[in-house]
Amino acid sequence: MSIPTPPSAPTPVTPGVELQIVGPTDLGAKIVKHLAEKHVGEQEEETLRPLDASKLTITRSAKTSKLPEDLKFVWGATFTDHMLIIHHSPTEGWLDPQIVPYGPLQLDPASACLHYAPALFEGMKAYRTDKPDSKPLLFRPDMNMARMKRSAARVRLPDFDGDELIKLIKKLIEVDQHMIPPPPHALYIRPTIPFFPTKPAAPAPALPIPNGESIAYTNGSSAEPSSSDEITYSAQFSPIALLATTSATRSWPGGVGEFKLAGNYAPCFAPQQKALAKGYQQNLWCLEGRISEAGQMNMFCVLKKGEGEVEVTTPRLDGTILPGVTRDSVLALLRAHAANSSGSDKLEAIPSDWKLTVSERDIELSELVTEARAGNLLEVFGTGTAAILCPVNRIGLEDGSPDLTTPSFSGGLGPVARGVYEKISSIQQGDVPGHQWTVECL
Ligand SMILES: *Cc1c(COP(=O)(O)O)cnc(C)c1O
Repeated sequence: MSIPTPPSAPTPVTPGVELQIVGPTDLGAKIVKHLAEKHVGEQEEETLRPLDASKLTITRSAKTSKLPEDLKFVWGATFTDHMLIIHHSPTEGWLDPQIVPYGPLQLDPASACLHYAPALFEGMKAYRTDKPDSKPLLFRPDMNMARMKRSAARVRLPDFDGDELIKLIKKLIEVDQHMIPPPPHALYIRPTIPFFPTKPAAPAPALPIPNGESIAYTNGSSAEPSSSDEITYSAQFSPIALLATTSATRSWPGGVGEFKLAGNYAPCFAPQQKALAKGYQQNLWCLEGRISEAGQMNMFCVLKKGEGEVEVTTPRLDGTILPGVTRDSVLALLRAHAANSSGSDKLEAIPSDWKLTVSERDIELSELVTEARAGNLLEVFGTGTAAILCPVNRIGLEDGSPDLTTPSFSGGLGPVARGVYEKISSIQQGDVPGHQWTVECL
């Protein structure tokens, strides 16, 4: 685009640099030039390259790792041989995706992600079925992509086509399929977008943070459901204890608790350390007297309502709750069971004479105290991709009154948690062929 040359040619305006007010003529010219450049910038934004999985290049690693024979993994310590990297440039858009050997990234010390945390992540798993020749499966990856795009928009990281990213993640799983352990283990996959400059003098981006590039990468680590140690669906679970925490909070109205942003997690470390020191594993986050989440998991309570009547409830999505894929799936399975408890939707472990209602609502901590003291708190469990389902058998209160407890169950899971766990893990591991929630990788 041609820019009108003013009579007294001004010094060029560097994009992104504040306009200097020198004199009336200069100022007019500079504003014209600035607006022209801004216009060019906007046009460029529209023509930035979209994420394109067909441009993938693969550089194979020299090593092919083996899974440990005893299938014992330290969480986050066994990584796949490869990782997927896609650079994003503010002037060009998404560059060609690459699968490369797993290894460290180089960061400029001025990287925005180190200072302001424009960074997000997702957590998903690739499952291997125990049938011969079966393909690795992903569980509802479209939900992860939709959430990832919402997180990106909230901190002005670049948008991308979720279907293209799924294609690339499938490719990574194909390349590293020897790293998917058998059920009930799975390969944990962590798509991440941090924003950082890969070259110190990168051109100014269309973002209100310092010069930089974004990079999306995903790597996998072999994982197991955190508390199961048997390779069957009737795994043993060790219930955890929560400390109801009101002196610190994970999220708040108008905040970003509903996004999977990197910045949401470090502020939970010190409160969790305090809970650990008092003999609890996780915080039960509370907000204005209401319960919120159990550590980094969504929280479910099972309440006895009357003879044979049971309510399963979880806090509603009011902006302070992370909308978990597992939470959504658990609600759907419970609602299907409640609507049709004789057909294939039946959750076997739940007694057939229970009349189940399923709700998403505000749950006051005081209500939980009253119900637990009256013996009506039947089960509490957390849900999330990593653990799938984690039973809670004790909740500590900050006022020092006795801990709330739930009944104990053999194997660690109450009937509702067990019914849901058996169903969800059988879907995830491909025992329900063609289920709409499972997506084949190859
Ligand atoms: C990731 C996460 C969850 C669980 O979400 P899933 O999609 O089920 O894995 C719950 N709470 C928080 C705070 C999380 O970060």
